[in-house]
Amino acid sequence: MEFSTINLILVNVEDNFKFHGRRRLLALELKKKGIVNKQIIKSIESVPRHLFVDPGLSEQAYVDKALPIESNQTISQPYTVAFQTQLLNPVSGEKILEIGTGSGYQTSILCFLKTDVYTIERNHNLFRSTTKLFNRLNINPVRFKYGDGYKGLIDDSPFDGILITAGSQNVPEDLLKQLKVGGRMVVPIGKKIQVMTKITRISINDFKKETFGNFKFVPMLKEKD
Ligand code: SAH
Repeated sequence: MEFSTINLILVNVEDNFKFHGRRRLLALELKKKGIVNKQIIKSIESVPRHLFVDPGLSEQAYVDKALPIESNQTISQPYTVAFQTQLLNPVSGEKILEIGTGSGYQTSILCFLKTDVYTIERNHNLFRSTTKLFNRLNINPVRFKYGDGYKGLIDDSPFDGILITAGSQNVPEDLLKQLKVGGRMVVPIGKKIQVMTKITRISINDFKKETFGNFKFVPMLKEKD
C-alpha cells in the first residue's frame, strides 16, 4: 500500500505499536493455520484491519474472526481472506476483479500485493462509506463500482483473477466468461454453508474445478440495494 505524506501522518495517528504487535501475532497464527505465501503473510502484518471496522470493535480486529460491518454485512475472518487470496495466487501487476467490496479490507490486501484491483459492491451505504475510507487511507483500486457483481465488468475484462467474497448458490456463469485463459476464479458456493471453489480457465471452452472445504459467508444477492 502506498501512502502520501499526509496519509502517512494520519495512519501514524490511527495506527500504533499495540495494533502492529497484534497484527504480527495474527500473521503468525495464520502461518500456523497453513498460509504459506510470504507476501500474503506480509499483507496481513501490514494492512491495519482495525481501521476497516467500527471503532467500537477495534480491540477485536486482530482476533481471527469475522466481525459485523454496516448493513448487516461482515468483514471476513482474516484466515478466510488469506486463504482465498492464497488460492487466487495473484501476481503483482495482474488484473483482479473482486465481488463484494464490503469494508474494503480484502481490496486493500489485493492492493498491497500490487495487483490492479477492480471491485464491485451492491450495497449503497457500504459503497459510500468504503469510498470515503479508501480516500482517507489512500487505497487505490483501479475501479470501485456500485453495482451487481453477478454482471462483472465486461468493459474491463478479461481478468487474471476473480475473487468472490459472498456466498453464491451456483457458479456465476457470466463471470466465468470474463476470465482470461489461465485465469482463476475463487468463489464460495452454497446456500447455508459454502464450499470454497477454485475454477481455472484452461482453454476458451474448458474449466478445471477444485474444492477446498466448507466456509460461511453472507449471501451474494442479485441486483443493487
Ligand atoms: N470483502 C469484504 C467482505 C464483505 S461481505 C470485506 O473484506 O469486508 C460480502 C459483501 O458482498 C457485502 O458487502 C455484500 O453487500 C456484497 N455483495 C453481496 N452480493 C453482491 C453482489 N451481487 N454484487 C456485489 N456485491 C455483493
